Amino acid sequence: MQLLFPDQLGSHFDLGGEILLPEVMSQFQKRPYHRQKAHLILYALRSRAKDDRVTLLSLDNYRDLAKVAGLSRAIKPSTRPMLSLAQSLGLELSQTRGFCSSEADWESYSAGKKLKLEDFYRQSRKRLNLLMDGEHPAGGSWNFDAENRLPPPKEKLGVQGHWVPQEDDLDEEVRETLDALERSGVRFLGVDGPRQFAASEKEAQEALDHFIEHRLDLFGPYEDAMDQRDWTMAHSLLSVPMNLGLLDPIEVARRAERAYQQGKARLSSVEGFIRQIVGWRDYVFHLYWQFGEEYESQNHLAADQPLPEWLSDLQPEKLSAKCLSDAVANVRDYGWAHHIQRLMVLGNHSLQRGYDPKQTNDWFIDAFVDGTPWVMPANVIGMTLYADGGAMSTKPYAAGGAYINRMSNYCGDCPFDPKKRLGEDACPFTAGYWSFMDKNQEKFKGNFRMSNPLSSLRRLSDVLEVSAQERARDSF
Ligand SMILES: Cc1cc2nc3c(=O)[nH]c(=O)nc-3n(C[C@H](O)[C@H](O)[C@H](O)COP(=O)(O)OP(=O)(O)OC[C@H]3O[C@@H](n4cnc5c(N)ncnc54)[C@H](O)[C@@H]3O)c2cc1C
Ligand code: SF4
Repeated sequence: MQLLFPDQLGSHFDLGGEILLPEVMSQFQKRPYHRQKAHLILYALRSRAKDDRVTLLSLDNYRDLAKVAGLSRAIKPSTRPMLSLAQSLGLELSQTRGFCSSEADWESYSAGKKLKLEDFYRQSRKRLNLLMDGEHPAGGSWNFDAENRLPPPKEKLGVQGHWVPQEDDLDEEVRETLDALERSGVRFLGVDGPRQFAASEKEAQEALDHFIEHRLDLFGPYEDAMDQRDWTMAHSLLSVPMNLGLLDPIEVARRAERAYQQGKARLSSVEGFIRQIVGWRDYVFHLYWQFGEEYESQNHLAADQPLPEWLSDLQPEKLSAKCLSDAVANVRDYGWAHHIQRLMVLGNHSLQRGYDPKQTNDWFIDAFVDGTPWVMPANVIGMTLYADGGAMSTKPYAAGGAYINRMSNYCGDCPFDPKKRLGEDACPFTAGYWSFMDKNQEKFKGNFRMSNPLSSLRRLSDVLEVSAQERARDSF
């Protein structure tokens, strides 16, 4: 009998024959999860169990699987704890699925090389013959980033809304389970639905069709923009079904390629989207295994501040900074915020304020509906917090209010001024940036990519006052 892990729910994980699918409630007792994340997981499990070959087994703990007779095989799970479990059960393991590249593909890319997303991505495109014109990239270029950096449009983006599921009886049943868990003392984060994300294979296909048909074409130009009128812009919202294993990412990338070939979507959007899936998604997965467990306890910048309550408990009403309160509100309301809100608002803030990397990593896993242990370390410990000292990215993704002002429409409605670093209305991102640079300047010396910001820092006459002001700041 095949043991199915909860992120292996699509037919591409089916080895044929009987399947055991555990539903383990203790996962919700360890740390508070977003309620909508718990909802999506339970809905997806119970929906998969409608297949006659699948037995859904309710367990208190994964360790109880040792008492189940007849388990013989599984597909290699995506995380270290689940791999140890599968090994302790003596299961025959077949190769990881649910990504666009295998362990062998990663080996052949990474052996003896300096790791770089761009090289991995190009190698993957060639290997998969994806968006290629013979030996050359389609359209003559590997990268269309320059076309994909538009700020939000004056009018709301003219794109059809994202695909939204029709809730059914199973949603009601899941809500009853979650209510019962709450009554028994389990604490969840955020607010309840309505459900926004696909959580069955059928729904995932519908969501993919909808995105390819109606939204992909505008994905690229506005992928880095933030718009307070529009929480999803032209993003796909497909990370949830992909991370639950309901959609095969190779199929997603091929569908995007076909949309370009059929003239339904511009190349810059299709390339940008495929880069996220075949490039970034696989890259961070392989780095999870490559970097190992110790990576998650790295803390190069000695960041030791605890997460503030407004962040850990999702309380946007306690914030005045418009960009920050909007991002936290999105997480509270949907368990989701798009990439630039994660990286350049929530992440940038956490970096500048020196929040503890492990706590921040765990918060992202628990508060986001698509959070998984494999996706977070490279994204949070590495890319966002620079806690790995540069193994993942060559310089910290720190930015002041000018970046947020350029890429969003928040600042006009904010009591702070993105140009100011001193005074009552000094922008916490602008002042926070200089205070962060000041605090960590010794660590950045010798980093070629930090030489310009460091020389700008040396020219600031008020840096001591800015740093003192930011150390004393107790609200944002
Ligand atoms: C601090 C931080 C935390 C993040 N947390 C998560 C997370 O919990 N789960 C998650 O799947 N992604 C995470 N990402 C990556 C990315 O932000 C999300 O995948 C994306 O916002 C999900 O929304 P979407 O499906 O609409 O993505 P789109 O914008 O439509 O992008 C398409 C797909 O590309 C993939 N992708 C893009 N960038 C990345 C990346 N850096 N790492 C992995 N996959 C990527 C995702 O599968 C995504 O669905 C995080 C990034 C940062 C900087
Ligand atoms: S002024 Fe600063 S805090 Fe306010 S929205 Fe702009 S960047 Fe954010």
